[in-house]
Amino acid sequence: MATLGVNRADANDAEIPPMVPSLLHSLKFAYNAQPMLLVVSFVLTIGGLIPEALSALWLKLLINGVTSGNSTTIFRAAMGLALTGGAGWLMRTVGSRFIAIFSDRIALAVNTHVAQLQARVSTIEHHERPEYLDRLQILHDHSFLLDHIYPSLMQYVGSSIRLLITVGLLMSIHPVLVLLLFFAIPPITVSARRAGLERAAEERAAPQVRLARHFFELGTTPATAKELRVSRAETATVERRSAAFRAGYAEVSRQRWVTALQSGGAWLLFSLAYIASVSFVASRNNAKPGNVLLALAAGAALSRFLGQTVGQTEFLRWNIEAAQRLLWLERYVSTRTGVDQGPAPERIAEAVRFDHVSFAYPGTDTLVLDDVDLTLPAGSVVAIVGENGAGKSTLTKLLARLYDPTSGRILIDDTDLATIDPTSWRERLAGAFQDFFKFEFLATNSVGLGDLPRIEQRPAVTTAVERGGAVDVIEKLPEGLETQLGPSWRNGRDLSFGQWQKLAVARGFMRDRPLLCILDEPTAALDAETEHMLFEKFAAASRTAADDGRITVLVSHRFSTVKMADLIIVLDGARVAEFGDHESLMAKRGLYAELYGIQAAGYR
Ligand code: ADP
Repeated sequence: MATLGVNRADANDAEIPPMVPSLLHSLKFAYNAQPMLLVVSFVLTIGGLIPEALSALWLKLLINGVTSGNSTTIFRAAMGLALTGGAGWLMRTVGSRFIAIFSDRIALAVNTHVAQLQARVSTIEHHERPEYLDRLQILHDHSFLLDHIYPSLMQYVGSSIRLLITVGLLMSIHPVLVLLLFFAIPPITVSARRAGLERAAEERAAPQVRLARHFFELGTTPATAKELRVSRAETATVERRSAAFRAGYAEVSRQRWVTALQSGGAWLLFSLAYIASVSFVASRNNAKPGNVLLALAAGAALSRFLGQTVGQTEFLRWNIEAAQRLLWLERYVSTRTGVDQGPAPERIAEAVRFDHVSFAYPGTDTLVLDDVDLTLPAGSVVAIVGENGAGKSTLTKLLARLYDPTSGRILIDDTDLATIDPTSWRERLAGAFQDFFKFEFLATNSVGLGDLPRIEQRPAVTTAVERGGAVDVIEKLPEGLETQLGPSWRNGRDLSFGQWQKLAVARGFMRDRPLLCILDEPTAALDAETEHMLFEKFAAASRTAADDGRITVLVSHRFSTVKMADLIIVLDGARVAEFGDHESLMAKRGLYAELYGIQAAGYR
């Protein structure tokens, strides 16, 4: 039976939404956030651009007045020039103030919106799929464009109207001059396509650029410095960074050359048409000085206005691409945040069941878990063993709802986990993972982060430190829990990997009443004895918390630890090969007994 499978929405996920809906969506966002400022800025921007287009008309009137000696016409033309010039200047000046205020406010609203969207995604797929990472990277790098879209659109609309007025003036001399507008189409089209083509090239180059960035970070962060020097890989890292950067840049550079040539050709065509138009007006038998001046002024203005409109088309197109990515992210998030999802149960009465669960990582076809049927009884300690890549961590990720099964269901008693709100479910999870993060805060906050609402509650932090077996780590710190961690901070202390790991385990134990406690090799850096001692503690805590039916799931390679679990699941080739307790599995003489034998032999 299919559930909220991540793969189901996959096909739509990859699609970037079209331009027009994305633009309208961004406008709606701005209107909801700052309606008054949006409207006023729009009116003032457009109003500030139009008067300039009328200058050519006043000039024509002025010349006509001068040549006919009509002082009223001269006065009217001079007033027209002064008034439109003044009004335009006033609107532009006041408008720019409004736009600045509008831009600041909308920038804050947009950035907050993007951050909230990312935080709302309940699964971690977008952090693990390369194509989404590239897209998010571009959205992140170009996020400033999202708030530039509005001024850019206002300028674009104003410039287009100004352009149309100018064309109208030219046509008033002779309708054939409308042809100039057609010659304006190629430069605009080339510019409009240019941003899209260059962005596509950037997107194609993004994996290489990300790789280059990764090598740069490898070469410049203290964490990797030691390993790189021991393995003598510093030079190779620098070279590979340059190679990746060059490969990425070559793609973008090639595209820029192509678009530059296209743009040059289109502008050449327009320039020739302009020269021909002015010659045409000037060479006519009844050429009036006013018309020649109008053709010169409006024609010159046309190329200037066109240049600006084209520039804005390009910028607007860029901005719209950012808007498209934003709409993509919103749609993506909406497929990832379930509706009508209920709260996590208060307790597990009977068991957590895997009901024919299969799973392939999104974007891949390989089943990492294949038709897994399992029952994890309430109140039990369950160990998962299997060779590297057998699917142990994946199973814990599904339990944490970091992913949903591709098919099948995970049932908490009778409730499908896919119908439980992921946030509410995760509030009832505790545990620690092998690939933990080193939070360089005060030690107390680094631990307290495991249960944000109680981060400042010292008794809760102290209890978590005890539960996680990290008392000795804290005791060795000069200021105890008040010590700043991380050598890059003032008075910051660095810890050994094992010490960081113990703090991560303590962080995982901040919650008092977890329903599920996941320990995915969090103590791999500790010695076997310490790990065994810690796990015994976790198991004892789990068994005494029988009221909640808490289940502890531990992944470990050490059979000395594994053997104390109530139930051991042996994974092999995406399937459950065996399960049972240590004695029954040993008696079976199957894969578990074989793996156990190999490790025991290693200790003899
Ligand atoms: P184990 O914990 O048993 O070592 P994992 O559950 O981490 O194994 O991985 C099982 C399989 O899934 C491996 O073949 C691994 O390459 C693959 N895998 C793990 N994470 C991802 C991912 N984010 N995307 C695609 N494949 C993955």
